[in-house]
Amino acid sequence: MTLSSPLDAASVEEFRVQFAGEILTPADEGYDIHRKVWNAMIDKHPALIARCHGVADVITAVQFARQHSLLTAVRGGGHNVAGNGVCDGGLVIDLSLMKGIRVDPVSRTVRAQGGVTWGEFDRETQAFGLATTGGLVSSTGMAGFTLGGGIGWLTRKYGLACDNLRLVDVVTAEGGFLTASLSENADLFWGVRGGGGNFGIVTAVEFDLHPLSTVLGGWVLYPIEQAREILRGLRTSLATAPDELTTVARLFTVPVVEMAPPPLQNKQVIGIGVCHCGSPQQAEAVVRPLRSLGTVLADLIAPIPYRVLQTMTDAINVPGLHHYWRSDYLRARRADHRDHPGADSEEDITPLSDRYPSDGRGGFPHRCRGHGLWTSRCSFPGQ
Ligand SMILES: Cc1cc2nc3c(=O)[nH]c(=O)nc-3n(C[C@H](O)[C@H](O)[C@H](O)COP(=O)(O)OP(=O)(O)OC[C@H]3O[C@@H](n4cnc5c(N)ncnc54)[C@H](O)[C@@H]3O)c2cc1C
Repeated sequence: MTLSSPLDAASVEEFRVQFAGEILTPADEGYDIHRKVWNAMIDKHPALIARCHGVADVITAVQFARQHSLLTAVRGGGHNVAGNGVCDGGLVIDLSLMKGIRVDPVSRTVRAQGGVTWGEFDRETQAFGLATTGGLVSSTGMAGFTLGGGIGWLTRKYGLACDNLRLVDVVTAEGGFLTASLSENADLFWGVRGGGGNFGIVTAVEFDLHPLSTVLGGWVLYPIEQAREILRGLRTSLATAPDELTTVARLFTVPVVEMAPPPLQNKQVIGIGVCHCGSPQQAEAVVRPLRSLGTVLADLIAPIPYRVLQTMTDAINVPGLHHYWRSDYLRARRADHRDHPGADSEEDITPLSDRYPSDGRGGFPHRCRGHGLWTSRCSFPGQ
């Protein structure tokens, strides 16, 4: 990256004086910790990391970047696998210290700042028996996730995360501040609902919440050799399943981690992940067929707090491993789509719902597709 004016020590010092949070240069302690993102394949070296305390810091950082023509990256939870939350040579505007969350249990809404992760978000909202669609791994950034749409365990019932947005506060590329909602800056509001990045820096969001405490959720594992019939059975069940049921089919090698039963470690399996967020009586009946689609290796489905389901795969999604991911959306999944992802990769198939069609409510471009497809390769120690 090129700078129109060199970043001299005096400019950085002046930036520090104006900034309430922490500014890190390569010479500062903590620089190497805070330039890292979830995917260890990404190894970028920004000139500066501005760890913002609030909106004023974000505005100051944007103005500094403009003044010095700095390439700028915005970092929330740092989960973007391509590493878009960090950059080489430029400025990283790091929101991860901005953790404010306020739940209003009467209006069933929540306001959360741009650095909140889904684990932090769920902790606060679940204290009031409320939830909205969030990420399957608790360390994922709430804002970055929502800006891309956001598929979670409640998607078929309550839509994508971005479908539950009420408003966003945004610091613009000019260093201005505005709020976007259906009634204010509606074009921008359309863009931030699933249209990806580069619409400004979202410093806070407001979501609608839904009453939810316990779900019937978890995973059932089957041998990979039965993947074809399991996927067929899943497709048949889903044809008549209510929106309360969201599922994920995952073809993967069980990692060598404490939570995995030792006989299954290093074994290739197909896992069906389920979340039923409706009444317990309906849940048992709807989920039962998915628990007997083949030879059950492990059945980890039970009535559990929603918040527990939201952290269930945390142990196998730890930061610091090397990942290569591809993803796409499919109009339909043929029953024989694929039954084996290969010994060193994994694959997720997430049936979506036609309940949230493309009706112009937001920029998420894949609503007409029936399924999300995600393929990844990752090395766990011991494999
Ligand atoms: C372990 C893991 C699990 C995941 N699970 C799911 C899942 O269940 N469902 C799903 O749909 N996706 C999932 N994802 C994908 C994830 O939603 C995206 O990678 C998302 O972009 C991550 O947001 P982040 O804030 O954590 O990442 P970051 O890398 O910090 O940011 C991602 C992108 O958003 C931009 N950005 C972040 N915050 C802001 C902001 N406040 N304002 C403006 N731009 C911003 C960044 O510049 C960057 O381009 C998962 C990813 C990982 C690694």
